[in-house]
Amino acid sequence: MAYINGEASSSKIRGVVIATLFIAVLVFAARVYFSLHEPLKAERESFRLGTIVRLNVWGENKASLDAALDASMAEIVRLESLFSVNIATSDISRINSNSGGRIKVSPETGELIALALKNAGETGGAFDPTIGPVVRLWGIGTKNAHVPADSEIDAARELVDYRRVSCYKQNGGCYAAVGRGQRFDLGGIAKGWIADRVADLLRKHGITSALIDLGGNLYVIGKSPKGHAWKIGLQHPDKPRGEYFGTIDVEDISVVTSGPYERYFEKDGVRYNHIFDPSTGRPVQSGLVSVSVISKSSADADALCTAMFVMGPEKSVAFLREHRDLEAVLVVGAEKKVFITQNIENKFSLTDGGMMLEVINGAVK
Ligand code: FAD
Ligand code: MG
Repeated sequence: MAYINGEASSSKIRGVVIATLFIAVLVFAARVYFSLHEPLKAERESFRLGTIVRLNVWGENKASLDAALDASMAEIVRLESLFSVNIATSDISRINSNSGGRIKVSPETGELIALALKNAGETGGAFDPTIGPVVRLWGIGTKNAHVPADSEIDAARELVDYRRVSCYKQNGGCYAAVGRGQRFDLGGIAKGWIADRVADLLRKHGITSALIDLGGNLYVIGKSPKGHAWKIGLQHPDKPRGEYFGTIDVEDISVVTSGPYERYFEKDGVRYNHIFDPSTGRPVQSGLVSVSVISKSSADADALCTAMFVMGPEKSVAFLREHRDLEAVLVVGAEKKVFITQNIENKFSLTDGGMMLEVINGAVK
């Protein structure tokens, strides 16, 4: 009996060993299969547009990925040379140095200005691309950052008015002009516009999975290489870079975040950030500490983030109730409150347990 029992238990052990080996072989085979079929990754990183530009693409063919990335980087350099206020020969610099007179510009510059004016109109001038004199006066983000005299601020603020801009097509050319003394600064929309352009270019190169990061302006193409939605972390306004207060699951869309923590200087205990209220000519202190907009258009998202910062929490919530197609996440610092629009309720997760979440109900007006 003991022997029979012994035989039975040793055959049981044999069975377990064989089953374990079988599972191990299956796991190994699956690993080999998936590692062979995992898409290839290619990436580029460069300091452009005053920030770090990172492009990541996935696909089956390394040469095609490299070609798509090279074309995208070259396009970013080309567009920067048209839009930068720091490049004297750019379209925008030529318009500024010839204020009061018209300049022939590239079709891309014409398109960007037209979109900037559309956003200025839709936000009641909270986003204003003629903020240039104010940006230059304060010098935030440069070694000349300082608090100007009230009279200087008033003089610069007088020049800010997008309604004095003209931009039109004539005989197949694009022309643009700002009023005398005015200056364009498209820093609040151009990165978004360029991200849209890069996404189009990558798609034309057959890319179906990509992550475009132009310093706060994200654009994802398709699904992540693991085959599911991209999980994007939203930078915590009070914590070091890379720490998040929440995440959002997205596909084929842009996520743009603006925060006063991006560029600022401190004087006498006051923090002055780089987003200005066009009606005061001073850095905004509206109580919002982070604004993210999720949109198919990175340019619109970029401009709207900047505009909502200027509007502040109450006006931004009202704006989002009126524009129900918009998807956004707002953080109000003092109350540690996060507002999200109803249409992203299923995609957003709050990871900071110390913050409160409120869903902006599109039904309430
Ligand atoms: P956003 O909120 O998207 O934009 C803030 C910026 O928008 C401000 O910096 C200001 O430029 C502008 N702005 C402020 N208030 C308003 C308002 N009410 N309405 C409209 N616009 C407003 N940085 C450098 O340091 N050196 C460079 O050489 C340089 N070159 C650049 C070239 C290009 C083509 C672009 C697009 C950007 C460049 N930058 C450069 C960065 C730029 O100066 C801004 O800092 C950056 O675009 C701000 O982006 P953001 O996402 O942090 O903030
Ligand atoms: Mg912006």
